[in-house]
Amino acid sequence: MSKILIVEDEETIADLEKDYLELSGFQVEVATDGETGLKRAMEGDFDLFILDLMLPGVDGFDICRQIRSEKNTPIIMVSAKKDDIDKIRGLGLGADDYMTKPFSPSELVARVKAHLARYDRLTGSAREVNKVIEIRGLKIDTTARRVWVNGEEKNFTTKEFDLLTFLAGHPNHVYTKEELFREIWDMESIGDIATVTVHIKKIREKIEMDTSNPQYIETIWGVGYRFKV
Ligand code: CA
Repeated sequence: MSKILIVEDEETIADLEKDYLELSGFQVEVATDGETGLKRAMEGDFDLFILDLMLPGVDGFDICRQIRSEKNTPIIMVSAKKDDIDKIRGLGLGADDYMTKPFSPSELVARVKAHLARYDRLTGSAREVNKVIEIRGLKIDTTARRVWVNGEEKNFTTKEFDLLTFLAGHPNHVYTKEELFREIWDMESIGDIATVTVHIKKIREKIEMDTSNPQYIETIWGVGYRFKV
């Protein structure tokens, strides 16, 4: 659900905007003065801002400028004066849209939806969720190539990470050392299946509580290894 912050000192207007946006399925927070609005805008995790221009304390110009120094989140600025709108356009503060009060709440909702959709398209790839494998206390972020064991991050070499991720990605599947060597090391690599054994040992030292009784990578005697789930 998209979260919207409204910074508006006229509470009846703020309430009206909030009601319409909530009816359209948005989560809405209202700040009725500039200081609170700025603080919430900078610390909160909002998807869009609706900023009134004239506010007690910090005004909409300042809030807009400060948001833009750190975030690309869409900003819709509203003002009672058409002149002000022209002025803020001229200042190039980086707001995405401007509306003159009074406006119809449904017009506001339509613009909010349009800006959220546009922003989603722009940032779509960046917002893709990392692929994470989580098995008991082990968490592998295969996109970021990071590993945590019971919440503590552990460092892995490239091949250790590749081997762990391959096994964890194929749980309960028994692989021979030959298969793992072919899978993780290319054919040109110097080394042999003993390399696999060495890497398994290193991985276990990082992820297992007790390496003599492994909970994740199990040795199948005479065959190879299996990742247990
Ligand atoms: Ca105002």
